Amino acid sequence: MLFVIIINFSLKSNTFWREFQNTYVQLPYNWEFKEPQIKVFDWEDWKLILYSNSFSRGEVLYIEILPNDLKLLKDTRHKLFYITISKEIPINQKSYGWNSIYIFPPDLTTQQNEILWEKHYNNYTDYKRISFLVHIRKYPDSDQPIYIQKRTISKEEQKELQERIKNEKEIKKLIFSELIPFCITNKLSYPRDYHKITSEWYKYRKIQYYEILNGKKIFYKPFYTIHKGIDLKGNEGDVVFAIADGKVVLSREMYYEGNFIVINHGNMIYSGYMHLKDRYVVENTYVRAGLEIGTVGSTGMSTGPHLHYSLWIDKYSADPLSIFNLPIR
Ligand SMILES: [Zn+2]
Repeated sequence: MLFVIIINFSLKSNTFWREFQNTYVQLPYNWEFKEPQIKVFDWEDWKLILYSNSFSRGEVLYIEILPNDLKLLKDTRHKLFYITISKEIPINQKSYGWNSIYIFPPDLTTQQNEILWEKHYNNYTDYKRISFLVHIRKYPDSDQPIYIQKRTISKEEQKELQERIKNEKEIKKLIFSELIPFCITNKLSYPRDYHKITSEWYKYRKIQYYEILNGKKIFYKPFYTIHKGIDLKGNEGDVVFAIADGKVVLSREMYYEGNFIVINHGNMIYSGYMHLKDRYVVENTYVRAGLEIGTVGSTGMSTGPHLHYSLWIDKYSADPLSIFNLPIR
């Protein structure tokens, strides 16, 4: 049933477009493609299929609701409610049925998960509970602290900086509350043309800021933070691709993130690209999967050139590479 075919090499020699079922994904040649796990639930004339890399917390979940006969599409409506976390899962009507991209929340603590599947047909509503297991995986622990130098600044500059950080926080709040229609199609792209993780997703990290005063290193109080994204190796100027179709809702220089691009893909799905050197896209424009949106850099609070890539789904941080082996269409 499942076919993996390499269809063509892109002009960038380090990437190729891979076809998996009905989905085309631009991948770096050194990323190992793995078929996702599948769970199928039958209910009368309908089928609900769940796809996930390994059904582990934090991973992207792809759902399809399919009829045995396409004639049934006309008069039937579906709804999905994720009982375990009390949230409705947004679904999208397609020519073949319905689909959805959602997430197993990273902070999930229960293995046994349940979704309530609601079906509305001929003024009659019926419900079915489906249950499945989600692996409560452990996250990577902190190793060496990350040392980041802060520039020594005056009292006035400090006030300005605080104002700047406050404003940028407001901007982020605003862009993450904008609702737009679902944009994701059957084309996706890995954000780089080379695969090498230098800091894992959801790693518990110790951050140590310091400044240099009169030639001496002055250390701030260290703090711990969860790494809500992945760091991908890259040299300054290496290409960065948009992971899916969407609307550029942020493209500007920010204090922590440096040159920062955020793409809204609809259904509360966002991708973020931090510490860029160049930004090739402007706010309020639409981009396609695989478009070159910028280059790797080390702007903002960064220790060296790399791409920090984040994926957010319904405000949860998602394991950002777990989307690239799903047969999204
Ligand atoms: Zn990072």
